[in-house]
Amino acid sequence: MENKDIYAVGIGPGKAELLTFEARRVLENVEVIVGYRPYLELIAELTRGKEMVSTGMRGEVARCRRALEIARSGRSVAVVSSGDAGIYGMAGLLLELEEKSEEPLNVVVVPGITAASTAAAALGAPLMNDFVVLSLSDQLTPVADIRNRIQAVAAADLVCVLYNPQSRTRRELLREVIDEFIRHRGPGMVAGTVRNAGREGEQCWLGTLAELPVDEVDMLTVVLVGNSKTAIVNRRMVTRRGYTVEK
Ligand code: SAH
Repeated sequence: MENKDIYAVGIGPGKAELLTFEARRVLENVEVIVGYRPYLELIAELTRGKEMVSTGMRGEVARCRRALEIARSGRSVAVVSSGDAGIYGMAGLLLELEEKSEEPLNVVVVPGITAASTAAAALGAPLMNDFVVLSLSDQLTPVADIRNRIQAVAAADLVCVLYNPQSRTRRELLREVIDEFIRHRGPGMVAGTVRNAGREGEQCWLGTLAELPVDEVDMLTVVLVGNSKTAIVNRRMVTRRGYTVEK
């Protein structure tokens, strides 16, 4: 393993079977693993005997700076993200922090199974055609931009996967977003939620936009909003791609 590499590793949703072979190999080989504490707990089996650097949720920049420092000192380091490292994960931040470095480290990005894929599989096959992934977190994106994107997606009849849908303190935006989808797609549009997809305690809900239990949605959940081709087929969420339409 090259000393001047640093790994941004997506560990998938948590279940060991959904971690890629490549992610496993990297985690087994590095000396130091850096990450948000609950994610490190998901891969406890792989971290035994290693040096671990864990921080809280908001410590992303500090965590990545620390990882880069350790890598620069010659030790092999992996920074873990849940799901895919390049989808609301740490890969981009590591690359950005190296932007002005005189001798940038080589950031090796190891992809993982993102929450949208895991949740879609749990519900059926809702992402069979074009879809959009949107985060409702206003930590780094102004709410006005989030509203504009929701408008565009709702009008474009795209299936939509909402990440970071609702936190303990951000309670209004998800209701507003669901109401916007209802305005464009009607209250009967198929929608689903998956909490803890692909890890212990997975819970699925499937129904219509009007029935969606908005208050129960939290940050461990993704919300999937169907489009005009999405149906409930034998109690699974399916977006029809056109295969079975008679021509
Ligand atoms: N890099 C991650 C996403 C991080 S953003 C990925 O690719 O999956 C964090 C948000 O992702 C959470 O608020 C939640 O909406 C969603 N999420 C991540 N893992 C999840 C899981 N196992 N089940 C349901 N939602 C999940």
